[in-house]
Amino acid sequence: MSPVPKIFDYIVIGGGSGGLASARRAASYGAKVAIIEASGRLGGTCVNVGCVPKKGMFNAAAIRSTIHDAPYYKFDVKYGGFDMKSFKTDRDAYVKRLNGIYSTNLKKDGVTHFSGYGSFLSTTKVKIDGVKTLYDDETANIEDQVLEAPRILVATGGKPIVPDVEGSELGITSDGFFDLDHIPGRVAVVGSGYIGVELAGVLQELGSKVTLFTRSNTILRHHDEILGSTLMDDMKRIGIEFVTNSIASKLAKNSDGSIAFSWTENGSASPSQDFDCVLWAIGRTPNVSNIGLENVGLKLKASKHILADEYQYTGVDGIFALGDVYGLSELTPVAIAAGRKLSDRLFGGPKFVNSKLDYETIPTVIFGSLPIGTCGLTEEQAVKRFGKNNLKIYKTKFSNMYNAMLPYKPQTAMKIICTLPEEKVVGLHIIGRGSDEMLQGFGVAMKMGATKQDFDNCVAIHPTSAEELVTMR
Ligand SMILES: Cc1cc2nc3c(=O)[nH]c(=O)nc-3n(C[C@H](O)[C@H](O)[C@H](O)COP(=O)(O)OP(=O)(O)OC[C@H]3O[C@@H](n4cnc5c(N)ncnc54)[C@H](O)[C@@H]3O)c2cc1C
Repeated sequence: MSPVPKIFDYIVIGGGSGGLASARRAASYGAKVAIIEASGRLGGTCVNVGCVPKKGMFNAAAIRSTIHDAPYYKFDVKYGGFDMKSFKTDRDAYVKRLNGIYSTNLKKDGVTHFSGYGSFLSTTKVKIDGVKTLYDDETANIEDQVLEAPRILVATGGKPIVPDVEGSELGITSDGFFDLDHIPGRVAVVGSGYIGVELAGVLQELGSKVTLFTRSNTILRHHDEILGSTLMDDMKRIGIEFVTNSIASKLAKNSDGSIAFSWTENGSASPSQDFDCVLWAIGRTPNVSNIGLENVGLKLKASKHILADEYQYTGVDGIFALGDVYGLSELTPVAIAAGRKLSDRLFGGPKFVNSKLDYETIPTVIFGSLPIGTCGLTEEQAVKRFGKNNLKIYKTKFSNMYNAMLPYKPQTAMKIICTLPEEKVVGLHIIGRGSDEMLQGFGVAMKMGATKQDFDNCVAIHPTSAEELVTMR
């Protein structure tokens, strides 16, 4: 006998950044909300295998780099090694605490949390497979595995892509990176998007010998050119080798446990090279399989992301999609903001009838060996949108004062892209020490429509790198 559906106002499939934010916001308006999470731990990619543990690793790498610099500032500091195993234990414990905080918050907000795999039975019914836990609702029957609601959100996120090459299973992805309890010796990182360059930088700083394989002759292809070229120089400075125009072709296990990695370079096969770890960082794909899309008629884009409009509405009555499964600007704060805006609109009353996220001018950071901040259009996008003659572009490159004491001079580079005649800032790209913490305020200014003149009207803070952004000629 099929179970009697348990009735809610709103069902959220996926307890990650977007799903949690949307569920909690809906509950704050008094909606009866259920959230379903398959992995057994709340928080999604960001908390478990993304932003949070990655920032921990980035911080560790930054400390290693500072120890390296310290003698030039006349500190008697010697590097005694990095205990990755015990660092991982602490990092994992921190993540576990966050999982617990999410659970407590759901309870506090009265959201019912189901741990299991959600899939559509119909446009109003969701089946849960493998229910393990049911929190907070004492009257709920654990046997109830079908939920029903007039509104359902798909926020199932995405997962790393593993390429279809022989032996690819010998490699790890960013998920596996967070399982490492030691720093591997020789590492091949395949892919040069933000995840590839971030993990390559961290591993190299912490003691690996990294070779980065990239399909083109550059890195961070989807970002402004100034960022990739400057970062590549710095990654070379810290010892990372690049194999450009390369495509992985085969992995095989050697008798000593290492991996023989083969690739083609500029179309021709290269001799294989041995690595202790191969890390795939070639992109992510949305989690859309086995969620019963066919039962409700949800449409997918060519990229397999769920098709939805600017209001996150999928075109199927009562069904919405956002976050990485929607695929526009795949970032945690974007998923959170979209989730909250959607719940405001659905449950917040007439005041929020037009509530939606503006996906333009979203600031973001890349935690590379030199941190990057980027907001708005790249130069290429701006030229396409406005035409070269309607733009004024400001650029600067300099060595940070921090490096005055050091024999090596990593560059700080900045670019401001303005539309003429008023010189409205439509793109801002910065790389160098401190860029990660520099961008947020400039993001506010850009969202408010700031012009270069507005930047210049702000008195510089000296001595900082950020002052260049308000003094550039
Ligand atoms: C290595 C790495 C580093 C990153 N660093 C950053 C960063 O520094 N800053 C930043 O802003 N973003 C970063 N991101 C991106 C960020 O993590 C994602 O954009 C964000 O987590 C997307 O949120 P989401 O809610 O769409 O999906 P997710 O957070 O992935 O949540 C989806 C959840 O749905 C669950 N789920 C899937 N299918 C089902 C199902 N059928 N039933 C029930 N549950 C299901 C999953 O288990 C998961 O918990 C990083 C990502 C990675 C991989």
